[in-house]
Amino acid sequence: MSESAAPALPATLPPSAHSQQRAPFVAWVLAQLGIPVHAGDRELLIDLAEPDRPAFDGQAQLRVALGPDVSPPQESLALDGRFGRWLAARLQSSGAALHARPRMQPMAVNEISARLFPAYEVENGQIHLAGCQLTDHPFLRLSFAADEGDWSVRHVYVSPDGAPLADELVARLGLDDLEPIRRHAPRLDDAALRSLVAAGRRIAAKPSADDDPGPAIVEPLVAAVIWVRHAQGTLQFTIGRRIAHLPFSAWASLLTPPPFIAPHSGASTYRLAATDDGRIDAADEIAVCEQSGQRVLRQELVQCSVTGKRVLGELTAVCPVSGRPALRSTFVACTVCRQRVSSGVMEGGACQACRSLSSCSKDDPRLVWIFTEHPGLDRWKNWELAETATSYIAQAAGLWKRLLIVVDKETLAIRRLATADRLSKTWIDAPDALANELLK
Ligand SMILES: [Zn+2]
Repeated sequence: MSESAAPALPATLPPSAHSQQRAPFVAWVLAQLGIPVHAGDRELLIDLAEPDRPAFDGQAQLRVALGPDVSPPQESLALDGRFGRWLAARLQSSGAALHARPRMQPMAVNEISARLFPAYEVENGQIHLAGCQLTDHPFLRLSFAADEGDWSVRHVYVSPDGAPLADELVARLGLDDLEPIRRHAPRLDDAALRSLVAAGRRIAAKPSADDDPGPAIVEPLVAAVIWVRHAQGTLQFTIGRRIAHLPFSAWASLLTPPPFIAPHSGASTYRLAATDDGRIDAADEIAVCEQSGQRVLRQELVQCSVTGKRVLGELTAVCPVSGRPALRSTFVACTVCRQRVSSGVMEGGACQACRSLSSCSKDDPRLVWIFTEHPGLDRWKNWELAETATSYIAQAAGLWKRLLIVVDKETLAIRRLATADRLSKTWIDAPDALANELLK
């Protein structure tokens, strides 16, 4: 670690939500360095290899006190003690940083599939991984210690992009429970490491947005590169010959099964199924047409106003009288207006519109409009009228005869023209010659 400028105030530990007692931290450092260490009740027991023994008068095992109180022959954990200086030198010779990884994180593709697959239910189909890339990304932990106060160690964490790491992510990513990578650590070039360490020093020196730089911070004791595994891939759902994909991307230890957003219904789901024509969607959004028996999207069904069945929209038409959909098979012709209407509006051979004509003044704009197109009709009196979605149905009465007209609402074309004797209920279609005479 490079020298910092001489501080005006005594150097201090950086504020941090992540602190640890010094003894377990030192035990972790020793384990990282491959030096056998055992935690006793009141001390650490450290087995020294031959080359390390001369620093401690040839001893093969060290007893190191857990805190500031030392009972000889225990060694002290003080940074400027014999053990502290030896540990600093060992760290220095081990390289610029220790390499570690979270103890608990999925490391292999089969752990990823084990985490994701059980969340999904695929009716009559399977789930596969259509590719999964696991990559390691370097987080940095700078650890600071001083022989003042309670001797705790403060950790400052840095994201791979050099930004401070949200406190809650430290535990969620397992950065507080590490295992060493002593061989074949992923490569991190010196410049990248220097840049991460510089970012960590800045974060330690100025943890808030406050402009006040505060007191100088002690030099970090240990820099640890923590390799966190990231998972990116695609789930593939297969039903019959159709497939659907669902990409995922997250830190492996935070990976949770993403919901499948159904492409047709837009529903968010973990239960997938296919329609009879092979479209993959949310199982809850698929239903059976009660007329055809086809499995289709629920949104493609409508309720038949005659039978009450939920059926495919294409099997229905809108009844011009009720304005509601009904199965085409329920449509019949009204004997009066001759329109095809749903059987639900029929009674005694007449549709509901034909049964409910109401008297209508000749000034009514609808009649005025019809008379403009067919002036001969203006000679008739005692008009009654009803309308459907597509037609006007009107009747008039004269001294001896009655008249029925059915007129297209859009074009005013005559759909039916019939007459009846004054006292008869039977309408007789007017022959062309009579029709011309009546209309002109
Ligand atoms: Zn009718």
